Amino acid sequence: MQTYVVSTARVEEYRDSAVRAGLDAVLAPLGGMENFVHPGDRVLIKPNLLSAKHPGQAVTTHPALVKEVILLVREAGGIPFVGDSPGVGGIQRVAEKSGIMEVLRETGTALVEFSASRELNGKGVFKRLPLAVPYLDADRVINLPKLKTHEMMTITCGVKNLFGAVVGTAKAAWHLKAGADRELFARLLVEIYLVRPPDLTIVDAVTAMEGDGPASGDPRFVGCLLAGANPLAVDKVAADIVGIPEKLRYVERAAEKMGLPGVDAAFIRIAGVALDDLRVKGFRLPHITDVQFGLPVFLKNRLRNHLTSRPVPITEKCSLCGICRDTCPPGAITIDNGRLSVDYRLCIRCFCCRELCPHAAFAVHEGVLLKLVQRCF
Ligand code: SF4
Ligand code: SF4
Repeated sequence: MQTYVVSTARVEEYRDSAVRAGLDAVLAPLGGMENFVHPGDRVLIKPNLLSAKHPGQAVTTHPALVKEVILLVREAGGIPFVGDSPGVGGIQRVAEKSGIMEVLRETGTALVEFSASRELNGKGVFKRLPLAVPYLDADRVINLPKLKTHEMMTITCGVKNLFGAVVGTAKAAWHLKAGADRELFARLLVEIYLVRPPDLTIVDAVTAMEGDGPASGDPRFVGCLLAGANPLAVDKVAADIVGIPEKLRYVERAAEKMGLPGVDAAFIRIAGVALDDLRVKGFRLPHITDVQFGLPVFLKNRLRNHLTSRPVPITEKCSLCGICRDTCPPGAITIDNGRLSVDYRLCIRCFCCRELCPHAAFAVHEGVLLKLVQRCF
């Protein structure tokens, strides 16, 4: 079986020269940027542009990494452009706040918001997958995820970052198709990756996010960059570094069930800094939002409110902007007479509302049985 190289380098800060040295170190074992980009290639650089946050909040890929990757693509003769479909706020605003717009101006690089999509055949459960045209038509795709916790998927890294190739509101429709079933949603993410795998994935794990990510967690220094051609292998190594328990790695498990290469540790070769020298201790996971053991579905459905966490609005923080109502996949949120409420019979516990609320106006309340389970966890 093929061996997948995941390269690692220590990077202590986001100074341009430090990031460049880290990139040179992670790309060397992979054959350099020239191995992925050829002269004249139109190269899409796909950072995590979830929402309009300052780079210090660790929600978005750091601009210093975006800048140095742009320069490396140019040096290899490629024509870089940056694109994504933010969860909320429009790409211009997100790029400004995250510091990426400044880098694009400085380097004369185009910013492309994903709007039109094209449907391609899926490779499994999902028969037709509509993905952004600039993502599908780029000669090369360089995936630049931020390593973060994720309340639904536990971790977001290389594979989850590609959900950004699903255009705007279609994201909600896909959440709805998978419903509350996180294993099915993980499968969807893997199938999106398979439709058009990125050519190269470079993970921003200098400052990661721990706790209640991907938007409400806390920055956590991890101090490294990771890179590889196979994002499943890269994600596995990233999860090992921050100590994500294997049973909570939904994407990895979905790929394993599909028999995909890249998730078997026996076939991953680390090049660069050894994992034991990169591991961080006490990396805080998000709240457990569901029980992990296999109860019969009818029982799970009956006990749902007690077995799962749910998003609860914090009235005093809410500006009634309506973003969560407009993006909630099943339409479980309403605003009436100046008051926001959630219909928990409809809620699929995707936590998009927490992810997209600009005022952190949702808390997580744990079900009674879930609390009991957590004590034994
Ligand atoms: S909870 Fe957040 S996103 Fe929803 S209406 Fe209030 S401020 Fe807006
Ligand atoms: S209320 Fe929040 S968690 Fe529930 S379905 Fe809507 S967006 Fe998802």
